[in-house]
Order: sequence, then C-alpha cells, then structure tokens
Amino acid sequence: MERNDPVKILGEIRMTNPDFSKDAFIENSKSDLINLYKYACNGNLKDIELSYSKQLIKKVTENPDLYRISKNFDVMNILYINLNDYKENTAKYIQLYVSVYFFDDVDNNIIKNDDIDKFWNDIWLVTYKREDNDEILKCSNCGATMEKDEENNLLKCEYCRTEKYFNFGTQDWILDDVEVVK
Ligand SMILES: [Zn+2]
Repeated sequence: MERNDPVKILGEIRMTNPDFSKDAFIENSKSDLINLYKYACNGNLKDIELSYSKQLIKKVTENPDLYRISKNFDVMNILYINLNDYKENTAKYIQLYVSVYFFDDVDNNIIKNDDIDKFWNDIWLVTYKREDNDEILKCSNCGATMEKDEENNLLKCEYCRTEKYFNFGTQDWILDDVEVVK
C-alpha cells in the first residue's frame, strides 16, 4: 500500500469533517481491532458485524490461520499505531499502521518462554466512512429499533434480546480490512 504525508491527510479529512480528532480515532480503531480478535476467538463474529465490513468478517471467518485466530487467545498489546494514509485520495477510507504483540496463553509464556505462544505482527487497518446510519439501529433478528448502551458499546433489542457490539466513538467509521504485513 502507498503511504502519503499524514499531515496532508489530516488536513484533507478536516476539510469535510472539522471535528475529526486523530487521537480519538486511533483509540477507537484500537478498540475495534481488539474486539475483532476477542469476538473471532470466541466464534461470535456475528455479534460485532455492525462495526466491521462484511468483507472483513468473511475474510476472518474463512482464514483464521492468517489472522492468528486461536481459542487460547488471551492478550493483545498494541505497541504502536499511527494514521499514515487513506485510500484513493478520499477521506472515505483511512489506513492505520499497527504493531501488535499477541499472547496466546500467558501462563505458558511465563513457564516455557516459547515462541509459539507469543508473536508480533505489523498490520494495516483500513477504516471506511459509512454513508448511511439509518439502518444501524434496526435489529437484524426482528427489525425493532435497538436501544443504545453507550457505556458498554452495545446495541440491545428489548424484544428479542439480540445484542451487538457497536463502537459509539467511531459510529461513522467501520473497520473495512485488516492486512497482516508480517
Ligand atoms: Zn430484536
């Protein structure tokens, strides 16, 4: 992927979105990445589908090894994250470069200090500006309007009890792609 000048990128984003906060955006993207792995490792990807693109959910479901999805996943430490680029000269997409340290099983790491149990990846995150928010509050199970639980980043349906992870901090942005570099 090409890299552009981050200062120029932020200037262009703020032309269409004056309240855009780089730090808040990075923090929210970090939560989205951590939750993607947390839910994927528990096999509950459909509970988070509102904050992620369909293509990303499909890729993670079909390629668990590529994304290092494991039942024993315990901790993800994000060492470094930066807003570097956005795609196709439009603020519709924003890319972030992330360094991540995973621990599959903390107890085993301490005892064995085994490279199998911990690993480090550099990855690209691509976030996508959502065009339309109107459909989001509709329950995918029964069609009722879901209630916002902003404290827990959840949308809840009081009729059928469906719950979905939803990142209110970046509700206009969804994680569109994750590309593992190394
Ligand atoms: Zn419902």
